[in-house]
Amino acid sequence: MNTFVNESSNSLEFWNSVAGSSAYAQGILSALPRAEMAVLRPKLEFHPLKAHQVLHEAGEVIKHAYFIENGLVSILNVQGEEKCVEVGMIGSGGLAGLPVIDGFVTSPHRIVSHSAGSAHRIEATDLREIMARCPELTLTLHRYQQQLMVQTMHLAACNALHEVEQRLARWLLMGHQLLGTDLPVTQELLGQLLGTRRSSVTVAAGLLQKAGALSCSRGKITIQDIAKLKSSACECYPLLRQRLETWSLQPQAAA
Ligand SMILES: [Zn+2]
Repeated sequence: MNTFVNESSNSLEFWNSVAGSSAYAQGILSALPRAEMAVLRPKLEFHPLKAHQVLHEAGEVIKHAYFIENGLVSILNVQGEEKCVEVGMIGSGGLAGLPVIDGFVTSPHRIVSHSAGSAHRIEATDLREIMARCPELTLTLHRYQQQLMVQTMHLAACNALHEVEQRLARWLLMGHQLLGTDLPVTQELLGQLLGTRRSSVTVAAGLLQKAGALSCSRGKITIQDIAKLKSSACECYPLLRQRLETWSLQPQAAA
């Protein structure tokens, strides 16, 4: 079912989707007026997302941008063969492939889907061509880009300031907003995303499990008590949500 079209714009669901707080959000697409959606729709191709699927590899040509419908997608900063750390998270309603909108053909970042989900993808050249004819789409994408930048900068501060257990709880809360109670992530993957050793994640996850916040099983973490998880997380989770929900709802300044 296609639930794209919505006459309203700048909906709270859209902006929340930057931080992945609204699983039902249709985000960018739902913010578009009907006339622009009619231009965009023929170029969109439904694309199922798989766990561990690389949507863009760092340094390679970006062929498609992905309007994420459901799922959990990470932006990874890649250094060397195996070293990477999550610098941004994209959820339902967001867009993977933002360099495309400013005319870049490659990106220094890897984009990975961590779960099964769905997206509507569009060829990079088509998106740029359509943006030239659709001012609301262009504005919405650039405002989304700014939102994602706020999230990215906040995560950089979080990674520098807060302990592994706090950051793990923060990541799981963001993941919970996107995927619900069961998160298909291993401790090894979480170590990569958080830029720390797996052994550190194992210790932190053990503490959270002992506190009754979660349970770990093969290839999956299940949130057992969201309140306990929130009490273990750093202030970044509520602070980032609050910042995005207030800052991003500012009206567009006059030209
Ligand atoms: Zn933090």
